[in-house]
Amino acid sequence: MDLKRDTDPIEGRIRAMCERVNGAQQADFYYYNIPINELHGGATVLVDGREMSMFASYSYLGLIGHPRINAAARKAIDDFGTGTHGVRTLAGTLKLHCEMEETIAEFKGTDDAVTFTSGYVTNLTAISSLVGRHDCVFSDKLNHASIVDGCLMSGSKFVRFRHNDMDDLEAQLKEAPFKAAKLVICDAVFSMDGDIIDLPRVVELCRKYDAWLMIDEAHSIGVLGKTGRGIEEHFNMEGAIDIKMGTLSKTIPSVGGYIAGSADLIKYLRHQSRAYIFSAALPPAQAAAAMEAFRVILEEPWRVSKLRENTKLFINGLKERGFDTMKTETAIVPLLCGTDEKAFEMTRESHKRDLFVLPVISPAVPVGLARLRTTVTAGHEPDEIERALDIFEQVGKEIGVL
Ligand SMILES: *Cc1c(COP(=O)(O)O)cnc(C)c1O
Repeated sequence: MDLKRDTDPIEGRIRAMCERVNGAQQADFYYYNIPINELHGGATVLVDGREMSMFASYSYLGLIGHPRINAAARKAIDDFGTGTHGVRTLAGTLKLHCEMEETIAEFKGTDDAVTFTSGYVTNLTAISSLVGRHDCVFSDKLNHASIVDGCLMSGSKFVRFRHNDMDDLEAQLKEAPFKAAKLVICDAVFSMDGDIIDLPRVVELCRKYDAWLMIDEAHSIGVLGKTGRGIEEHFNMEGAIDIKMGTLSKTIPSVGGYIAGSADLIKYLRHQSRAYIFSAALPPAQAAAAMEAFRVILEEPWRVSKLRENTKLFINGLKERGFDTMKTETAIVPLLCGTDEKAFEMTRESHKRDLFVLPVISPAVPVGLARLRTTVTAGHEPDEIERALDIFEQVGKEIGVL
């Protein structure tokens, strides 16, 4: 038997990726992993000694560097140090974790909440703890990668329905075996397009077909709802979602993820989910920062209103100038460019004018729908937004996107 291969497959994969990246770097079209030197207040960052206006931040309410949140993190280090004694189940649970989880549950209007060390891990572990072989999980086609990975990891039948298409979801639910456990999962706000899931119809279908509903609120916390509590508040449907997932790394300027829900659901996850049982607890500083951030959102309601006003100003301004912003209604604003090349050129020219934006290309989005995936935050001032709009218009005309 000849065991020799012409090329080693792992070697081949590594080489193919490196060639793609090197090609982009040589063509001066590589905009990822740019080191930010420091925050510069408001929505500006210092990059390579240049002050740039940030239009690619997930910090929707401008809370990174908030004095109260920084102080809470510092105090937690003084009180507890920088790590824990291990996993939550054994010696890793601090009083701080319990208080943080109570704060999240209160914010989300649920009995209880449980946290994990990232949003990505939260989706993996929650989905794979709840469903398994013989079950069916229904996932919107544009759901985040962490949801897709959680579904695959669970081993359940993975059914994808057309994006935000409730007729398709219903058709798929109808086909599932009557006896199978059913879990429907959607992003609240879709991370590439900025549109909002049709929650009223999803809830109706879940009730009709006896399915559980899990919603990922990574881009909904602080963004949707009058007080920033998220998608249920947005639709006036408090209590409609069974499993509310969110991250602590976007609007909340920390790291980690949570599931909020009924007392029994949370108890189950604390004793079943592998990321809780086999992975270390969140560090004290990050837990304290997250807890303080939820309080700040409620105590500084102007941030949520300002984000809403800025969002309107930004989206309307782009539309008036002729840009295609797809179906966004939120702070995630795609600026459609077409080809990957065009998206790269838009980025390069925007960067020259000190606008920090990033291109999203295939395979993250379909071929031909490459875009700048811009975001607007409560940290922007209206004149900064106007300046960005003018630059986008100028650059868009130069490059032929407009
Ligand atoms: C960012 C994101 C996550 C992952 O959260 P992290 O805390 O960054 O791991 C999960 N779901 C969605 C929709 C996201 O956008």
